[in-house]
Formats: sequence, structure tokens, C-alpha cells
Amino acid sequence: MYPKSLENLIENFKMLPGVGAKTAERYALLMLEKNETEIQEFAQNLIDCKTKIKTCEICGNIAEEEHCSICEDSTRNTKIICVVQSAKDIIAMEKTREFRGVYHVLNGVISPRKGILPEDLTISKLIDRLDQGVEEVIIATNLTLEGETTALYLAKLLEDRNIYTTRIAHGLPMGGHLDYADELTLIKALEGRKSMKND
Ligand code: ZN
Repeated sequence: MYPKSLENLIENFKMLPGVGAKTAERYALLMLEKNETEIQEFAQNLIDCKTKIKTCEICGNIAEEEHCSICEDSTRNTKIICVVQSAKDIIAMEKTREFRGVYHVLNGVISPRKGILPEDLTISKLIDRLDQGVEEVIIATNLTLEGETTALYLAKLLEDRNIYTTRIAHGLPMGGHLDYADELTLIKALEGRKSMKND
């Protein structure tokens, strides 16, 4: 029905979550109304995101430089590390403006079902960071079965190293994902974190 180039663009928009055929068509047609400069900029931004964004060497957050803006920020408390399963959880936590420590991205959670083992995550990198005077590790993996399994695994590992380990909990529903939680719930979850020490 449409010229090939427009059909292609419609297909591209369909890749986005929640965008069906109708919406994709609308977006593509809207793009036709934009001027040359706007389109160039849009295309360039897409390419830049893919080529310039990399992983922070310290924490695994997304970054344009070797280190992310949080690791580079000297006002952050490096004695408290908040462990999350993906970089998008950092964005959710940062929106609360409550947490002033630093992060560690695991790049997933332990899942025997999916064949994801502890060694597939960045756990050894986290252990390496503990030597730098870390006093508390807050485990903020999702409250799913896999998130809990990972939290327990980490708690055991950290207990052996005498690191005070806490788990966010309060207010977050079981099965809850951090990036879906609203800011107030996340603040409460952070404030209500509980020690994971067995005694
Ligand atoms: Zn970082």
C-alpha cells in the first residue's frame, strides 16, 4: 500500500513495545512532516546511542566514558553499594533522589531454569570492589523468585566476608520489578531495608 521506504519505517516503529500496526503507521507518517534537519538529528541520535553508549568499568551502569556519571561523582558515598540486576534499575533508584551511595549492576539474576549461573553475573567484580572500604551492600534485585535466590546467594557470600548486607523489601509487592515501582514505594523499600544476617 505504501512506498517501500515508508513500509520499512513502519516496520521499524513496530519494534517498539506497545506500538502496534496502527500507531507505527501514524508515527511513520508524522515523520514525513518533519524537516530534513530534524530527521538527520533523529537518525544521528539513534546511531550515537548505539555507538557511544558503553558500560561503566566500575559498576556496569550505562556510560559514554570509561566511568559513569555516578562513579565519577565525588559526593557519592562509595562505602554503600546498591546491587541491582540491570542498568535501568539504577535509573529507577536515581529518580527517588534518596540514595547517595554507588551501584553495582549484576547483568541479570541467577536462574537455573534459564541456565544463568552465578559465574555468568558480575559477582566476582562486586567482590573485588569490597576491598575499597565498603561498609554496606544493599541488595535490590527484583522481588521475584530469581531475584530472591540471587539475594540469598549474595548474602551468604558477603556474610563470609563480614560485610553488612541488607535487602530492600518494605512496600514492594512480591514479584515486583524495581523499574515498575513508583518513586515513593522505592523510597520506602530503601528506608525499610532489612539485614540479611541469619541470627
Ligand atoms: Zn559506574
